[in-house]
Formats: sequence, C-alpha cells, structure tokens
Amino acid sequence: MAALEVAGKEERGANGENREYKEYLLSPRWRKLRRAVMLRAKGQCEICRRYEGVDCAHLTYERVFHEHMEDLLWVCKRCHRELDAPDPSPSP
Ligand SMILES: [Zn+2]
Repeated sequence: MAALEVAGKEERGANGENREYKEYLLSPRWRKLRRAVMLRAKGQCEICRRYEGVDCAHLTYERVFHEHMEDLLWVCKRCHRELDAPDPSPSP
C-alpha cells in the first residue's frame, strides 16, 4: 500500500495518499493518541529532553493509522525535523 511510503513526508504536497494521512491527523483517534503521548512526555521533548515538545512524531510508520503508543514520540520542532530527515547520520 503506497500510503506507507508517503506517510513519512507529512509536510509534503498534495497527492491523494498524503491527504488521507493529513485527514487522519485531524481525526479523534489521532488527537487522543497524540494527547496521550504528550501526557506521557509531560510536555517535554522525549528525544533531547531540553525543549518543550510541540509535535507527535512517528518512530516507525509500520502501523501508521493504527499506531501504538510506543511508535510515537513527543518531540520539539528541532528533533522532529531530525527524525524525519531523509538521511539519518549513523551514530558512532
Ligand atoms: Zn527535542
């Protein structure tokens, strides 16, 4: 299913599958999940733990539309961008 491929690029353009994902982000299910993740993180970025989180990021898109709590992270803008970066630099 092609939706999995495009789902990683939330910010990108207006093709059909991406719209489905965007609509999902407005759904009650996602809002609830997102809120639960935020509460788990106590509002703080779960990656750097330095900044206030603002976004719910996917660690994996394996279960996109049916995510588990552990597939998601509450993150600040900066960490979210790094997480979604096309070429993750391997950590030493
Ligand atoms: Zn962060």
